[in-house]
Amino acid sequence: MSGVFDATTDPALRSWVPVPAECDFPVQNLSLGIVSRAGESPRVGVAIGADVLDLALVAEAGLLEESLPGSRVVLSGASLNALLGRGRSAWTALRARLSRLLAVDDQTLRDVPGLVERALYPRTQARMRLPFAVGDYVDFYSSIEHATNLGRLFRPGAEPLLPNYRHIPIGYHGRSSTIVVSGTPIVRPCGQRRPDPQRGPVFGASAALDIELEIGFVTGPGNALGTPISIAAAREHIYGLVLVNDWSARDIQAWEYQPLGPFLGKSFATSISPWVVSLAALEPYRVAGPVQEPEPLPYLRTAEAWNYDIALSVELQSAQMARAGTAPLTISRPNFKKMYWNMAQQLAHATVNGAVTRPGDLFASGTISDVEPDFGSLIELTWRGAHPIRLPDGSQRAFLQDGDSVRLLGHAGGGAAPRIGFGEVSGSVSAADLGTTSTEVNP
Ligand code: MN
Repeated sequence: MSGVFDATTDPALRSWVPVPAECDFPVQNLSLGIVSRAGESPRVGVAIGADVLDLALVAEAGLLEESLPGSRVVLSGASLNALLGRGRSAWTALRARLSRLLAVDDQTLRDVPGLVERALYPRTQARMRLPFAVGDYVDFYSSIEHATNLGRLFRPGAEPLLPNYRHIPIGYHGRSSTIVVSGTPIVRPCGQRRPDPQRGPVFGASAALDIELEIGFVTGPGNALGTPISIAAAREHIYGLVLVNDWSARDIQAWEYQPLGPFLGKSFATSISPWVVSLAALEPYRVAGPVQEPEPLPYLRTAEAWNYDIALSVELQSAQMARAGTAPLTISRPNFKKMYWNMAQQLAHATVNGAVTRPGDLFASGTISDVEPDFGSLIELTWRGAHPIRLPDGSQRAFLQDGDSVRLLGHAGGGAAPRIGFGEVSGSVSAADLGTTSTEVNP
């Protein structure tokens, strides 16, 4: 931990809501999400211990209006976008107020008759929605370890890093409308692929379905067209982070990606975690990133530490393991702190041409890899299938099979420091919908 704590991240803080040991959501976290119970409209909730506090009901009681004017409307909406649009001063005021209301020595919520009984309930009862309506979606390629591995796999014999890699944060625009919340089933995509380089392409279900372990940031108020966000202003525009699983069909991707980059091999589904962890909660875990050599151009330079020490893990469970009650296998444990390009550089770069961002835009990091074997995708972990993963049920995996479940987890802190966790982003693979096109045609 790098160690700059404030009144809301102070390790000594305790809540009157019980927080189990090793819980991702102590009072220092205060992650926000969109929740509902049976018969309820979706609204903003805050995760606390094993519970969720319904902020629409707290706002209705008038307890948040002073810190967040318009709180009744902002917190009863079906997305976080209105709050994201308010900007950092509003985010800071709301966080400070929630920290106080949940502190062990504060009676305010409990003094309102019936409020806690209605507004505080187990997270297991909450149906989690997509936390924000995703506007534009960008996916970067900011792990130099991942870029090097993919370069070796896709362009064997050539220099793995292309000449631009150390000069610009490489990225592409993805498909925001297929971003789904954790738990949404992932249907195996169909498309064109070319399994035999001596022959033409075939159509069918992807035979190389993969994951990408990523963290994405969501933006706040936004900039005016033609007015870039400087790297010094990036913090005013980034609310917080979610876990991202960028499901990837490697065979579709390999055939389609040149010369314009990822398209249908990525756009069928991208999963995100339901709780948004604020930068404010992660502040004590901010660390310096790797030395950038050569030094980037001036608009990408910052003296600030912009990396975050977030321990991540990838879990895989087959359908057979689930049926037998076998726990998922942890197949990788990378850390976010090693990313070559940080999110301030990513945002400055994405807007340097004057492009706009809006509340709810999502910028994902790119696959987070570390030194072997802690890679963030199966194509790296199995070296394109050459070294399959052995599962406890006796089967092997080069890529995902139908019925497989993947769970990504992440947290900062832990031990003596408050654990600022992300919860999880999970998804299970279901069989392709072949419809009337099931016959593979190989001309
Ligand atoms: Mn990706």
